[in-house]
Amino acid sequence: MRAALFQGPKAKPMFTVGEVENPKPKANEVVVEVEASALCGTDLHILDGTLLGKAYKQPPLIVGHEWAGTVVEVGSLAEKFKVGDRVFSSPNFSCGVCTFCLRGRPNLCDKRGVFGLNAPGSNAEYIAAPQESLYHLPEGISFRVGSLIGDTLGTAYHAVRRAQIQPGDVVALWGLGPVGMTIAQMAKIAGAAKLIVVDVVPSRLEEISKLGVADHIIDGKEKDAVKEIKDLTGGVGADITVEVTGVDLALGQAFEALRKGGKLLLVGTHSKKYELWSLAVMYREISIIGTFAHVPTEAEYFVNLVESGRIKLEPLITHEFGLDEVNTAFELFMARKTNKVILYPKK
Ligand SMILES: [Zn+2]
Ligand SMILES: [Zn+2]
Repeated sequence: MRAALFQGPKAKPMFTVGEVENPKPKANEVVVEVEASALCGTDLHILDGTLLGKAYKQPPLIVGHEWAGTVVEVGSLAEKFKVGDRVFSSPNFSCGVCTFCLRGRPNLCDKRGVFGLNAPGSNAEYIAAPQESLYHLPEGISFRVGSLIGDTLGTAYHAVRRAQIQPGDVVALWGLGPVGMTIAQMAKIAGAAKLIVVDVVPSRLEEISKLGVADHIIDGKEKDAVKEIKDLTGGVGADITVEVTGVDLALGQAFEALRKGGKLLLVGTHSKKYELWSLAVMYREISIIGTFAHVPTEAEYFVNLVESGRIKLEPLITHEFGLDEVNTAFELFMARKTNKVILYPKK
């Protein structure tokens, strides 16, 4: 099969497209013909070498963990699927037997793996995946949208559930990449009465404006976001602040813009350790909530949201490429000139 092979952080070009052996399913796996594979911010941590120590093998390596396609081969025990089924994937796979898997939290599995890092990924014509990581993709949902369900939407759905956004809440969110744009939509569905969003990239501010879900849009370059949020809430701040940027400044603002008794939801990846102002957390009764990926019991609900049109993933897609254009796709993505980028391995 044809696959885009990541050649290492210093390689030029970073990817070559070549022939590799087709995957074979283990007993609990199926092989899927990949119809659409989306680029993700996590890929960039593989490309810059940060995560390479955890990789299933050193480059050349097939990255990609957000994907949808058609089942073409079924392992002897993979009874959940048959050849021809349309599926989308979770970004992760888990062991099924550790304490966290048994508690219904496989996103926290001790042996959790990610496609494209701990196993071959989806920037290829075919991929093998354990049946537990796959979900049926309804007929009415395109593969390109399907590729955004397991990670982008799953992460957003789980985040909103973790924060328990209530009808009437004031929610402020930093970072309008694909996950932030989806959390914005989810927050409104959960009942946020006032949704305030902050970003510094003009195209993203424009995209959220077109989506029509935000009540107030703040350009963080032009305005003091904390002051704006306080002004919009009679001086008290937001019930829930959501940090999706991974940027220090935004994290500080998300803490400052909270009202007493508020909840800070951490979605963005900050690799740095911070000092915690525990006195403020204590006196102000602040809750700090982490969230990661999704759990399988949530999948039926978030698929329903796509099928019913309540959640719109199509507007997140700004660029689409065939496999041969993989280098161009990643260059634009890295330069933050895109929102979601889709690769079509068969093109
Ligand atoms: Zn991802
Ligand atoms: Zn486990």
